[in-house]
Amino acid sequence: MPFKQDEFKHVNYLWDDNIADQLDPVERLRYRSNLLGADQRITNTGGGNTSSKIKMTDPLSGEEVDVLWVKGSGGDLRTSTRTNFASLTMDKFLSLENIYNKADIKGVKTEIEDAMVDMYRHTTFGLNPAASSIDTPLHGLIPFRHVDHMHPVSVIAIAASKDQERLTQEIFEEEVGWVPWQRPGFDLGLVMKEKLKQDLDLKGLVMGQHGLINWADDDKACYELTLTLVEKAARYIAQRDKGQKAFGGQKYASLDEKTRNVILIKLLPVLRGKVSQVNRFIGTVHVTESVLQFVNSIDAPRLAEIGTSCPDHFLRTKIKPLYVDWNPQEESYEALIQKLEKGLVAYRADYATYYEACKHPNSPAMRDPNPTVILIPGLGLIAWGKNKSESRVTAEFYSLAIEVMRASEAISEYQGLPRQEAFDIEYWLLEEAKLKRMPPEKEMARNIVIVIGAGSGIGKAVAHRVAKEGAHVVCADLSEEAAHATARELIDIYGVGIGVAGTGISGCGTAIGLGVDITKRESIRSMFENVILAYGGVDNIIITAGIFVPPDKQGYIPDEKWALTYSINVTGPYLVADEAKKIWQAQGLKTSLVITTSANAAAAKQGSFAYDTSKAAANHLVRELAIELSPLVRVNGLAPATVVEGSSMFPRDRVISSLTKYKIAFDESESTESLREKLAGFYAQRTLTKSPITLADQAEVAYLLSSNKFSKTTGQIISVDGGLHEAFLR
Ligand SMILES: [Zn+2]
Repeated sequence: MPFKQDEFKHVNYLWDDNIADQLDPVERLRYRSNLLGADQRITNTGGGNTSSKIKMTDPLSGEEVDVLWVKGSGGDLRTSTRTNFASLTMDKFLSLENIYNKADIKGVKTEIEDAMVDMYRHTTFGLNPAASSIDTPLHGLIPFRHVDHMHPVSVIAIAASKDQERLTQEIFEEEVGWVPWQRPGFDLGLVMKEKLKQDLDLKGLVMGQHGLINWADDDKACYELTLTLVEKAARYIAQRDKGQKAFGGQKYASLDEKTRNVILIKLLPVLRGKVSQVNRFIGTVHVTESVLQFVNSIDAPRLAEIGTSCPDHFLRTKIKPLYVDWNPQEESYEALIQKLEKGLVAYRADYATYYEACKHPNSPAMRDPNPTVILIPGLGLIAWGKNKSESRVTAEFYSLAIEVMRASEAISEYQGLPRQEAFDIEYWLLEEAKLKRMPPEKEMARNIVIVIGAGSGIGKAVAHRVAKEGAHVVCADLSEEAAHATARELIDIYGVGIGVAGTGISGCGTAIGLGVDITKRESIRSMFENVILAYGGVDNIIITAGIFVPPDKQGYIPDEKWALTYSINVTGPYLVADEAKKIWQAQGLKTSLVITTSANAAAAKQGSFAYDTSKAAANHLVRELAIELSPLVRVNGLAPATVVEGSSMFPRDRVISSLTKYKIAFDESESTESLREKLAGFYAQRTLTKSPITLADQAEVAYLLSSNKFSKTTGQIISVDGGLHEAFLR
């Protein structure tokens, strides 16, 4: 019997008839899926799938047919929309069983089983382009209208226990059956169908080492059944939880947050450099009470070695994490680094051994042998992924695996998936095909790019430009508010991804906004500390921040304004580079620095002493830094001229005074942008290319200099000034 709405203590009951009853059957499925996906205790990000068999009219015959709507390949239940669901005509789908049965060799992991996945496309209803997942037969072959397949921590804990069959019986009695671990596919669907044939009263099945599947002929009843089964398992576990004695008790103590962050800020760039030798990774720091209890425990080394169980988990977490046995109270930072280095060498060797031992003649080549999850007593969990979302998902999955191990060890004994089974998932040819189908990574993917001056003008345009190329963008600006505004614009375009883990600033998306005053070393340092905690390191830096102080009518610049000009235009970029140098060296990954100078640096003229000479100094700073930071960092200068469009350096007053100076007709009532256009048009006529110089022109070159497209160029100043012969560098 399902529990009543107010009886649930371990899951959130979210169904609302007022909402559901307004929806068509497909939208009701979407609604049910979003509700299930919203509770991590019911399923993990990207994990599980749901289905409904819905009567629909065939557009050709006009007849009513049964259509299986099932969550397709990729995507995530919590964030799914209608487009994430595949639709298959049931008649056609069921006829696939004949094709399967005709094969001479059939069963789990046979050629015919993998070949079935391509057949699903022939059964598509209504030109729906959504691709079916490998779990489709689990839904199609079960003769009930609605099916939920979830990865709940509490049920995986049962499924990953030594005596899983007995536990299933004890907890769910006759209601739920059990099937041993089997790689998902057509054959597993047939196994389940057979189970149901033997016992039509079954409401669901615990899937060994994997999760839960259950069904009903009414969608709300299916939802309530899912919640009830998860609740039952969770209650059983809660009664047996070992509390402080979990994981064999504590061996080490946690560090306080301040000490922990001091170590992490020093450690993360070093670690990122070490795990990024094959592919560059983005990091996520995940520190919760339960993670700390695990990493500090006596059993952590033993349990970490067993690895994760649910196949969904270890595709991201790899078969096992790297656990570093470091005593946070008694051992030094240097000892931690030494242990990490040794641990990484052993981990990679272990991974290669696993690959060699398990590979088949047609297996894909060995993938990156570096760990994606690193566990350190006192500090917590550090996860790595190709982008922020993936590293957050990885952190989430391992923290769920910790919950699974805790529960499993409370009720029985935890066991991982056999190595060969793990390998056959990780190196499954269908997974490989999926990886190969993915579009190539963008130019700045896997890079952490800091744009200083991102709150407005060129900086803001640069932030947008590099984000478009897949960069993780730190929008930094003197105005914290403006920095946040640009970061928000980027998040609005690119989203935060599907990952949900990450502690503090590490729980961010692909863009963050930070305030920074580049005239103060302390402020720069604090910016870098935040970037490291957010993403695990620092790659490219592009500085567009600058200041132009116009002299008064007599051409006079007060001393303090002169000093301020140098402080922002010259000392600022120097301080940024000097602070970044330590991080770059710790990380040891090749990268670049772009400093915005000016065409004025090369063309002497009247009336802007401070600005022009400061920019000339900045040009030479580029050259000095190129030598100083070689071979790790390329340093180049971008020299714009008179970008009037949207520039904070051209406030209305300055535009009007310039228009007056050049005797260009204008009306006081005109908008600032319109006045700027007039001035830009005038400036354009003084250039060789005769076109106004835009923010996009500047952003393009800043991006190119920063990217690997200019990987052999350093110490150079590139002018983007429309062609000013008096500013030619020689
Ligand atoms: Zn699954």
